[in-house]
Amino acid sequence: MRVSNLFLSTQREIPSDAEIPSHQLMLRAGMIRKCASGIYAFMPIGLRSYKKVEAIIREEMDKAGAQELIMPALLPAESYQASGRWDKFGPEMFRLTDRGNRNFCLGPTHEEPFTEAVRDNIRSYKQLPVTLYQIQHKYRDEKRPRFGVIRAREFVMKDAYSFDVDEAGLDKSYDAMYKAYRAIFDKLGLDYTVVDADTGAMGGSGSQEFMVKSPIGEDAICYCDACGYAANEEKAPCGVPEKVEAEALPIEKIHTPNVKTIEELVAFMNADAKDFVKTILYNIDGKIVAVMVRGDREINETKLGNIFDATEMNLAAFDDVERITGAKVGFAGPVGLKEKITVVIDNEVSVMSNFIVGACETDYHFKNVNIGRDFEPDMVKDVRNAIPGDACPKCGKPLAMARGTEVGHIFKLGTKYSSALGCNFLDKDGKENPMIMGCYGIGVSRTLAAIIEQNHDDDGIKWPVVAAPYRAVVIPVKTNDEEQMALAEKIYNDLLAFGYEVLIDDRNERPGVKFKDADLIGIPLRITVGRRANEGIVEVKYRADGKTEEITAEAAIEAVKALV
Ligand code: ATP
Ligand code: MG
Repeated sequence: MRVSNLFLSTQREIPSDAEIPSHQLMLRAGMIRKCASGIYAFMPIGLRSYKKVEAIIREEMDKAGAQELIMPALLPAESYQASGRWDKFGPEMFRLTDRGNRNFCLGPTHEEPFTEAVRDNIRSYKQLPVTLYQIQHKYRDEKRPRFGVIRAREFVMKDAYSFDVDEAGLDKSYDAMYKAYRAIFDKLGLDYTVVDADTGAMGGSGSQEFMVKSPIGEDAICYCDACGYAANEEKAPCGVPEKVEAEALPIEKIHTPNVKTIEELVAFMNADAKDFVKTILYNIDGKIVAVMVRGDREINETKLGNIFDATEMNLAAFDDVERITGAKVGFAGPVGLKEKITVVIDNEVSVMSNFIVGACETDYHFKNVNIGRDFEPDMVKDVRNAIPGDACPKCGKPLAMARGTEVGHIFKLGTKYSSALGCNFLDKDGKENPMIMGCYGIGVSRTLAAIIEQNHDDDGIKWPVVAAPYRAVVIPVKTNDEEQMALAEKIYNDLLAFGYEVLIDDRNERPGVKFKDADLIGIPLRITVGRRANEGIVEVKYRADGKTEEITAEAAIEAVKALV
């Protein structure tokens, strides 16, 4: 491709609404174009890299025996009503009606249509197992779309679904996908870890996430160097510490004017955050619930949501907090609530004594509060996030933490969807059973961004060759120099003849501009044809490590071939 013809629009400035390198670089390199919040177009240069990633995923899926098909994105409500997810998805689902007022959604994930397709086409155990997949757009009205294609509202997912006759079969299908995922992320050169994941209200017997390590990752990973345990923070269980027996001191009300946050309280009361218990009110599917964790802990909303099988969960509105506690926000506590609400305390709180809580009265706190004497919780549960140093749930050694971006997710579903949608098969004895299912997703567009997160510098993207939009760019320094142009054209045409995807930057621009663009869009090898063109000598520069060499034109062609 001639750069003079390329639909390319690069920009030097960092777009103001892009917070992270991959998002900035995808915009600056002209890979994507924002159409609306969380909705992006892939431009030619971006689509090329996207297609490379897609091809690697497709190849490994096919190798693992999965068969590709394509489902509609526009789906009838009935399928999702039958599984219960029409309600469960809540506001994340894009819904619409047709001219006859029938309800539809834009598929957020496709367990239902796949299950129905298999239900209607497979009768006997002899036709199983089967794994089907598609690479297709998904729609989710995310609460906080951000980071470009990393958390988008329209994005591409490879989703696969396996159907087996028994658990042993599922284990095999799952393992095949696990291996295929490893092969995909290995081929893409990503630095990733596989972690145990939350199976949530979906039930199921096991689930793992493929996490690309990244300082900007939205997920926290807990891991143990001693035994190799690794889990998403959402999932990592926190045990119940031992109770330290202490004499219950008399409860005291303390005047704490305008002291609301834990930090302010710690300073005001000259105490430690560990001596406090914070009480946070949530609205879970319309019901207000009080959740209590130690002052220095964070509530784990995934664990909390699972306890209540929540569809929609938010912090309670100010009015609700003020009505129920009878105080301004910041003084909630379990003693003196004005309405009966469910009080959930964290495991760790259950062993505490003489702690400090809000007094359900503006500008007051209670000191020396004790469970049993002063209030009775409705539930004692694990509702906090694990933190570094917590005991590993497997071996007890201290856990460490890192951040990651989830690029893939594999899940043993069991019979949740097959039972709900009547996806049964006849076994050897002619008896009808629900199929045992698994589901497997990769965020294709998110993976592309993850590659950039791990492969860039101040000048731009450093594509690994497997995902590069073009392998090499030939840059004549002076387009009006006949000798330079002739050699550049020769190298370009030879490379094309060998079947390589290459660019020739034939624009009448200063070489500095061309170099900058080549670096920004991340072409792995640059071949500069300059003043030594008359000797047949060119300069090659590797984007990955910045190494440059002056070599013959023939050797430059070999260098392109040798790129891996
Ligand atoms: P997350 O916790 O990041 O919201 P999820 O659990 O909702 O992810 P899955 O439903 O398991 O994600 O989807 C499978 C894959 O699709 C994820 O591993 C991720 O790579 C990708 N994905 C999910 N949501 C988005 C999104 N909003 N934008 C881009 N990719 C996404
Ligand atoms: Mg999600």
